[in-house]
Amino acid sequence: MCSNKRKIVLVGTGMVGMSFAYSALNRALCDELVLVDIDKKRALGEAMDLNHGLAFAGSSMKIYAGEYDDCADADIVVICAGVNQKPGESRLDLLKRNAAVFQSIIEPVVRSGFGGIFLVATNPVDIMTRVTYQLSGFNPNRVFGTGTTLDTARLRYLLGEYFSVDPRNVHAYVIGEHGDSEFVPWSQAMIATKSVIDVCGQSGGRYRLEEVQGLSVQVRDAAQQIIAAKSATYYGIGMALVRICRAVLGNENSVLTVSARLRGEYERRGVYAGVPCIVNANGVNRVIELSLTEEEQGQFDRSCDILEESYEGMELS
Ligand code: NAD
Repeated sequence: MCSNKRKIVLVGTGMVGMSFAYSALNRALCDELVLVDIDKKRALGEAMDLNHGLAFAGSSMKIYAGEYDDCADADIVVICAGVNQKPGESRLDLLKRNAAVFQSIIEPVVRSGFGGIFLVATNPVDIMTRVTYQLSGFNPNRVFGTGTTLDTARLRYLLGEYFSVDPRNVHAYVIGEHGDSEFVPWSQAMIATKSVIDVCGQSGGRYRLEEVQGLSVQVRDAAQQIIAAKSATYYGIGMALVRICRAVLGNENSVLTVSARLRGEYERRGVYAGVPCIVNANGVNRVIELSLTEEEQGQFDRSCDILEESYEGMELS
């Protein structure tokens, strides 16, 4: 940690950023929370609004609208800033505009003397995390994204419902791109220590593997469903961000499917993708390599190829 107070700087005080901030306040996540946004008035208003809730919160958090210089002694910089797709704009053009947004953020954060951890939520999160790594020049352990953390939480919830088991006893992961090519390696999905495939096979038809596998489609399409209903998703990702920050600030060594830079794991090098990682005060302490089947490795490779193509298409200097 950078000092004896736990300090987080949030960049981007839109719906996702403020869902994180609100949840952080309610969970007493840190001692100091700084809000930064290109729209300074908005950051000021959000800080005022949160401060007025302090009397009802079980925490004495210091919350204020600040500047990039405030990152100097921060433990974590959480990035939720981004621009939205304009009508008729291609995905690649949006990526390029978001890369420009990140340039305007990462450079002043690094210039401040920041020596903590970058945590990225802005979409496409795997690409924007890689951009952050590239622009910051930080050790990749200290630059990671939310990846498939939320997708994995959704999967565990749905599996818990299906099997009537507490989701905390469901060990299954969504891996790869946070997006259309993400997938569940079912060979590695467990209820306690028993494989989901065996639980279905030995259930006498009570549980069906095809039905279970159908849950991954629900997980993949959940964001689109929420967006169709209410234009955006933010509470779930806000809470996922708090969970990841807690793992860092508490040096927890927790397993979370964050977007991490692969350095030979899963036979890939350089790409950022959602994989189970041990997260602690140093960031991504290490990547856990699941024993994928040949078919699952093929799915993972396809997902990483898509991420590589998008990143290279941006032609960052
Ligand atoms: P939003 O439009 O409500 O907020 C974006 C904020 O970024 C705004 O306050 C804006 O002023 C700020 N901003 C823009 N350019 C900036 C700059 N150069 N410097 C500083 N701040 C700047 O959007 P949102 O709903 O909060 O979503 C934010 C991002 O989170 C999006 O990219 C969205 O796709 C992503 N998201 C990710 C996940 C996930 O699972 N990783 C889930 C939901 C949303």
